[in-house]
Amino acid sequence: MSLASLSYLNIGGVAKVVCYPLHVEDLSNILNFCFCFNVPVLVLGNASNTLLSDAGWSGVVISLKHFLTKITVENDSIEILGDIRLEKLLAIASKNNIAGFEFLTAIPGVVMASINGNAGAEKCSISDLLMEYKYMDIQGCSHSVSKKDILCSYRKGPLQTFGIIYSACLKGEMSQKDLIQKSVKEKWEYRRNRQPISERSLGCVFKNATDYCAGQLIEHAGLKKKSVGDVAVSDIHANFFVNNGRGKSIDFLNLIEEVRYCVQNKFGVFLELEIKKVGD
Ligand SMILES: Cc1cc2nc3c(=O)[nH]c(=O)nc-3n(C[C@H](O)[C@H](O)[C@H](O)COP(=O)(O)OP(=O)(O)OC[C@H]3O[C@@H](n4cnc5c(N)ncnc54)[C@H](O)[C@@H]3O)c2cc1C
Repeated sequence: MSLASLSYLNIGGVAKVVCYPLHVEDLSNILNFCFCFNVPVLVLGNASNTLLSDAGWSGVVISLKHFLTKITVENDSIEILGDIRLEKLLAIASKNNIAGFEFLTAIPGVVMASINGNAGAEKCSISDLLMEYKYMDIQGCSHSVSKKDILCSYRKGPLQTFGIIYSACLKGEMSQKDLIQKSVKEKWEYRRNRQPISERSLGCVFKNATDYCAGQLIEHAGLKKKSVGDVAVSDIHANFFVNNGRGKSIDFLNLIEEVRYCVQNKFGVFLELEIKKVGD
């Protein structure tokens, strides 16, 4: 199966095996099998933060896309088993008058992957909402972790080693639907004007730091629209690289290196990757 078809960026080689577990037991069995036979495992959400290699993946890819989801709302908390898009999480929160999730507006990932990468915006991160999560380790054993033991940092989720998060409880605060919807609408508007949200990208390629904003450094180095093959620095937001059609992972990687080189030369700053690179 082509990994490009699983990828938001539409880039990636071939995966030999893609598994879609339906239940917790399936997930455990797949992981246990891979562990016993030494098969490398790659877990993907919507692959909107992951650059998949042109060489593909010779191990097993696991996707929770068809996992049977169960969503329970209790007061200001939302418990999810399986995985759903952040967009759906926001809609559930808004329908139930729960505020605090709005910063996730227009981020095209799924919830469990976003917990893994501690996705965030506007100084908020999904870990701020996280009360509890469950994950399966590399051998297929389940673990439950509650708030007091959850440690996350900027774009770094709670897992210290390989694991697949398959359940989470997130807590916001009670508010009014119209206020929540107004805030979501404003955030959509903001993003639409400042980010290439209708194009194929991975969001911000490089991390920001307290003393610089990666997009501004790239822009001030004159690199907007710079391209390698069909991958280009967006002219809307310089920290976004877009696939203009037939882009390859190697083009993306070469563009990363060119941008890094120019920014380091001009400003003496080495840009650290925010996206993840995976594949053979
Ligand atoms: C237009 C646009 C705007 C964006 N804006 C933002 C933003 O404001 N803030 C932000 O943080 N990000 C942003 N992103 C990047 C991306 O959407 C987020 O990081 C999102 O949380 C990634 O979710 P995903 O489902 O695509 O994850 P994937 O890319 O599929 O996975 C991310 C990582 O998590 C791992 N993973 C996947 N599923 C699981 C699981 N169940 N358990 C454990 N690990 C798992 C993967 O192996 C990978 O290492 C943006 C992207 C785009 C295209």
